[in-house]
Amino acid sequence: MTDFLQFGLPAQLTSALERMKYTKPTPIQEQAIPLALKGHDILGSAQTGTGKTAAFGIPLVAKILNNPRGNAIVLTPTRELATQVMTVITGLLGQRSFIQAALLIGGDSMHKQTAQLKMRPRIIVGTPGRINDHLERGNLILHDTNFLVLDETDRMLDMGFGIQIDRIVKFLPPVRQTLMFSATIPAEIVKMSAKYLKNPERIAVGAVNKPAVKIKQDIIHVGDSSKYDELSKQISERENGSIIVFVKTKRSADKLSERLNKQGYKADTIHGDLHQRKREKVIAAYRNMKFRILVATDIAARGLDIPHIEHVINYDLPQCPEDYIHRIGRTGRNGSEGSAVCFISPEDSMKWRAIHRLLHPNEAPPQMPRGAVSEHKPRKFGNKKPFSSNSSGKERAGNKGGNTGDNKRFARFPKRKPTPKAA
Ligand code: AMP
Repeated sequence: MTDFLQFGLPAQLTSALERMKYTKPTPIQEQAIPLALKGHDILGSAQTGTGKTAAFGIPLVAKILNNPRGNAIVLTPTRELATQVMTVITGLLGQRSFIQAALLIGGDSMHKQTAQLKMRPRIIVGTPGRINDHLERGNLILHDTNFLVLDETDRMLDMGFGIQIDRIVKFLPPVRQTLMFSATIPAEIVKMSAKYLKNPERIAVGAVNKPAVKIKQDIIHVGDSSKYDELSKQISERENGSIIVFVKTKRSADKLSERLNKQGYKADTIHGDLHQRKREKVIAAYRNMKFRILVATDIAARGLDIPHIEHVINYDLPQCPEDYIHRIGRTGRNGSEGSAVCFISPEDSMKWRAIHRLLHPNEAPPQMPRGAVSEHKPRKFGNKKPFSSNSSGKERAGNKGGNTGDNKRFARFPKRKPTPKAA
C-alpha cells in the first residue's frame, strides 16, 4: 500500500510508482495531483527539486490511461529538461505500456521524429521551436490534445518563448486542461498565465521565489582577475560530490573547462553551441560521474535533476535574478543538502542587488565593497534565514554532510593537488 493509493490512480500507474520507489507524494504532489485529476487548471510553484515533474506527470499519465481519447503535450525550455521529463513519463507509463510517446527536441533527427509521429503518439514532450517545426510541416496534429503542461512556466512565457507558445496553443482545442509549474513565478507571469488558464487553482508550496531550504549559500567578493584562482581554491576545498560551475557565455564555458582540465581537474562543458549528440553525451557522462565538474551556461540552470551535484559555483552571475534560484537548485534535490557559492565582482553589483531584492524583498540592499576586492573568504549574506548556519564558508566547503551515498562513489575521482597557478 502506498500513499499514492489515496488518489485512486490506475493500477498500472501505481505499480510504476512502486518500481520508481515513489512511496509518498511530496507536498506539491499531494496538493496538485487530486486537483489535476478532477480536471482543474493549475498554476503551481514549489521549490527546486521537490517533485514538480511527477506532480504533473502522474495526473497526465492517469488521464491518458483512463481516457482512450485525450492526448497530452508537455513543453519545456531546454532539450535536456524535455529528455528528463520524458524519462519520468515513460517510467510512470511502465515498461510494458502500449501508449506511445514522442520526444520532439531541436538538434535531433527530424526524420526520426516524423516517423515517430506517424505512430500517433498520445504524449508529446518537447521544446517549442521543434514542435512548431512539426506543426508547420503538418506532421503533428494537436486537435485532440486536451492536456497541456508548461514546465518552467516563467521561462516559457518570457519574450523569446512566449511567441512560440502562442503559436502552439492555437493548434490546441480551446476546451482543455492546462497545468503550469515553476519554482519561480514573478507577479507579471501570474498575470500573463491568465490567458492560458481557466479558473486555475493556485498552489504554492513553501515560499514563492525562495531557494530550497537545505542549500547553504555563500558569496565571495572577487576581482575579475582573481576569479579563476578563487575557483580553483573553491574546487580543491570541496572533496566530495559533483560540482556545476555557471558562467555567462558559451565561449567562457569552453575556455574555463579547458583551463580546468589543463590544471588536472576532470571537467567538461555544456552550452547551446554544442551539437545535440555532444550535449547528450556530456550530460550522460556527468550523470554517470565520468567527470566531476560541469561548466555550464544557463542552459543547465533549470530543471536538471542530477542527485550527486553537491556544489553550485556561480562564477558569473545570471542575467535574470530568478535564474539564481534555479541555478543553485541543481543541488539540494529531493530534500538533500547542497552548497552554493556566488562570485561577485564589482561589475556585478547591480545584478547582485537584483538577486538580493528577489530573495529578501523587505530588506535594505546589500553593501558592496569598493573596488575589486578579493576577500578570499566566503561570507554569509545578510545573516538571515536560509543562510543562518553558523559555520564559516570555509568550513562548509569541506562539508561532508551531503549525499553520503554519492560521496562514497566519488572516491573514484583521483584526488588531485592542483598546481597553484593555472597552466
Ligand atoms: P523534480 O523536482 O521533479 O526534478 O524531482 C526531484 C527528485 O525527486 C527526482 O530525483 C525525483 O525522482 C524525486 N521524486 C519526485 N517525487 C518523488 C516521490 N514522491 N518520492 C520519491 N522521490 C521523488
